[in-house]
Amino acid sequence: MAASTERETDMGSVNAGVSARRAVSSAPPLALRILAECPVSKARACDLTLPHCTVNTPVFMPVGTQGTMKGITSDQLEDLGCQICLGNTYHLGMRPGPEIMEKAKGLHNFMNWKNNLLTDSGGFQMVSLVALSEVTEEGVRFQSPYDGKEILLSPEQSIAIQNSLGSDIMMQLDDVVSSTITGPRVEEAMKRSIRWLDRCIAANKNPDRQNLFAIIQGGLNAELRKACLEEMTKREVPGFAIGGLSGGEAKDDFWKMVTLSTDYLPRAKPRYLMGVGYAVELVVCVALGCDMFDCVFPTRTARFGSALVPWGSLQLKKKQFAKDFQPIDPDCHCPTCKRHSRAYIHALFKCDTAAMHHVTIHNIAYQLSLMRAVRASILEARFPEFVRTFMRRMYPSRETYPNWAVEALATVNITLD
Ligand SMILES: [Zn+2]
Repeated sequence: MAASTERETDMGSVNAGVSARRAVSSAPPLALRILAECPVSKARACDLTLPHCTVNTPVFMPVGTQGTMKGITSDQLEDLGCQICLGNTYHLGMRPGPEIMEKAKGLHNFMNWKNNLLTDSGGFQMVSLVALSEVTEEGVRFQSPYDGKEILLSPEQSIAIQNSLGSDIMMQLDDVVSSTITGPRVEEAMKRSIRWLDRCIAANKNPDRQNLFAIIQGGLNAELRKACLEEMTKREVPGFAIGGLSGGEAKDDFWKMVTLSTDYLPRAKPRYLMGVGYAVELVVCVALGCDMFDCVFPTRTARFGSALVPWGSLQLKKKQFAKDFQPIDPDCHCPTCKRHSRAYIHALFKCDTAAMHHVTIHNIAYQLSLMRAVRASILEARFPEFVRTFMRRMYPSRETYPNWAVEALATVNITLD
């Protein structure tokens, strides 16, 4: 692996030679510069340069649907300092559809978003949202929820849709199985995901401007994960995602699969942990060596009136906030906290969807500023202390720390007091 890592480091460095080399070797439009590595844990802070701007990692990527964030506009997202967000291929591929996307000259234009976009393959939504889906070697076959027509989402079709969206990072179509499933189906899905990765690589029409990420599968089986890592890291892909986790499996299994993956992933490429977005998971998984995260949780929970704060969350619909004139978080600099009180948002929840909008903005601001604080601590070589302070603030006492987090952090030499 040493030789390939060296080559990847060369390819991943930001320098004037990149564009010149791209012409001959079609190097991917991505450069990862590692700015600092925590001397204690596996945490790292990088600058990830993508076609639309440089992304400071570790990074949380908010999830948008149908080209707009639920409850927030592109402008507002930009004002919060968001450098990359997600678009859902499944929704966009169905409605408005690839032809409209081609006409709109891509999703950036369509949603008027000037920073980076990451699109998923569409497969996960299909398997999880559409009851009548069937996976074969060809792809995922399902019935359109819009007109009932049978549709095949093949690796080639998924990449064609993502090419028409013009995202900066595209995800391979993978064979998704529930993280709680065991047995031969997990191995079949892992091996098929490798074959589909090869088909996705071959299908990418824009390797010079769209990065294709591989997705490591293998369920909760260490041997299968390792086999998948070994095969996929042989491919010339610009980045890797850790997939198939965060689907209701035991937390002990979850973090062990995460740390096993980062042990085997090449240092010079970005590592994206899919579907993770609770604050404590973000902090622990940064310690385990992950760079990128996404999750619908912060925006979804906002719509139910739950505001994220450094000491947990506030259920703003509760009566106790009716006469509470403080902002959600007095230390938060987001537009919601600058302008509105808990009492106002509490009242608004009774009559107006604008309440959801205010809390969504706050929750995204919370996630982004948490990651900025994580990054600053890595750059200043005080990440372990940051983790200890974070945990003290998040939990009422040492006894209430989740066991899995304590154990996971101990494996990367961060002991909690
Ligand atoms: Zn706020």
